[in-house]
Amino acid sequence: MINKLINRWWKSPAKGASARFGRREEVPASVHKIDPNLVDDRAIDVVDTLQAAGFDAYIVGGAVRDLLLGKRPKDFDVATDATPEQVKRLFRRAFIIGRRFRIVHVVFGRGRDHEVIEVTTFRAFLDSADAAQITGNEKTSKRQLEHVEHAVDASGRVLRDNVWGTIEEDAARRDFSINAMYYDPFTGVVIDYHHGIRDAQKKVLRMIGDPLTRYREDPVRVIRAIRFAAKLTSLGFKIEAKTRAPMGDALKLLADVPQSRMFDEMLKLLQTGHAIDTVEQMKKLGLTKGLYPLLDLVVSRAQDPLLRTALQDTDRRVSEGKPVAPSYLLACLLWADVRQANEKLRRANPRMQPMMALQQAVDQAFDAHIGDVSGRGRLGADMREIWMMQPRFERRTARAAAALVMQNRFRAGFDFLRLRAQCGEVPLELSEWWEAYSLADEHSRESMIDVLARERRQSPSRKATAAFDEEEPVEVSDGVEPARKRRRRRRKPRTGEGSGTSPEA
Ligand code: ATP
Ligand code: MG
Repeated sequence: MINKLINRWWKSPAKGASARFGRREEVPASVHKIDPNLVDDRAIDVVDTLQAAGFDAYIVGGAVRDLLLGKRPKDFDVATDATPEQVKRLFRRAFIIGRRFRIVHVVFGRGRDHEVIEVTTFRAFLDSADAAQITGNEKTSKRQLEHVEHAVDASGRVLRDNVWGTIEEDAARRDFSINAMYYDPFTGVVIDYHHGIRDAQKKVLRMIGDPLTRYREDPVRVIRAIRFAAKLTSLGFKIEAKTRAPMGDALKLLADVPQSRMFDEMLKLLQTGHAIDTVEQMKKLGLTKGLYPLLDLVVSRAQDPLLRTALQDTDRRVSEGKPVAPSYLLACLLWADVRQANEKLRRANPRMQPMMALQQAVDQAFDAHIGDVSGRGRLGADMREIWMMQPRFERRTARAAAALVMQNRFRAGFDFLRLRAQCGEVPLELSEWWEAYSLADEHSRESMIDVLARERRQSPSRKATAAFDEEEPVEVSDGVEPARKRRRRRRKPRTGEGSGTSPEA
């Protein structure tokens, strides 16, 4: 019934139609059936404040798409004819951000629960031929770009996009038709210029305008196409053939996109709840290489038990509204490199202090894969901490265990250990022990340590357990190997070392 209504409604010709800007269709609530309860109060508040000040303002983009599909949007964007300066003046906590694309963040609440409503000013539809032509890129041509509001590079990539325009111009510049609708929460009307409602109903992801030109303007749209295809695949959405055809050719354009933006886009692909579907989409589209080095790696390793489980866990956590850390996922992604490098180093230098070997292995993994995000100091430090903590889980003495559990990043390190246990890399018993230990009170912790010590005395041959305890030197590369063990090994070098339970890291 609704489909019929929509069909009849969108087919009716509208006045003032223009091929470039589409035709304005105003769809009432009785047709689109958006549930107002799914709309965030703060977004309504922002629209209200702007409208009360005499501006046009709508909820826009992905939020309208999700509302139409009956999903609660994860964030809300607002579009207005007010300039960023005018917007900023209307709110107590509002910040103008971005250079390539200036927008305003209106902030509600504080700390963990704070919420940001992004407010964008309608952009003008400008011909690339009229834009300032920049010979280099954002880094090499900083000076040239300083006072320019609309600029493109030699390939047509838009480097500055800060010329204000009308709502229809703004709609034509958005990426996909289903992302280009405007919702007024007070009248309940959805304004649609590019058949977004029809496409939502037909379940197609369609680029507005000529797809290759749009990928040239902003190659990140290739990644966005993958992201939305993955996000909406469970609803049956497909990328329209014309939108899909130039994606492969457009890949090479990604090389010029600033690394920091690529890194953020990669995280959006992997950490917004659809990581597994994203990998599937990339395979389906034949875009498994050349997107971004770390993403290529994710696709090639997606079947490795550790990474696969990490991706599944990430999707599950996001769906449960729990936080996810990029450092954790990247630590999972590069763990195989760290292990390999560590094993190689240990083999080549049997006398090398295990912790030193692990440090060097980590450095090598960073050099090989994370060089391009070296500016992200905290992220790298967190990954290193997760990895360096692993051997310490094998030391279950009273002192070592108490110190480890007190570490700031214990939870991330422990989650990583548990993942390794799930994948058979270390015994489950070890991660279960740590889980119990971390939850226990002081008295119970002492008894847990006593039990271990007793077990070890009673059955010293019980490797699966005893191999992780530290009171006696053990044959594991725990990174903090006691001197006694090193001396013994020097006299009698071992081959095929390890108990099968060691992380070898
Ligand atoms: P999500 O649900 O993941 O937030 P979204 O569609 O809201 O998806 P955003 O990155 O939040 O994506 O962008 C908001 C809107 O801004 C989009 O819906 C789209 O209309 C527009 N937009 C964002 N990035 C681009 C781009 N690179 N090119 C054209 N339009 C864009
Ligand atoms: Mg959004």
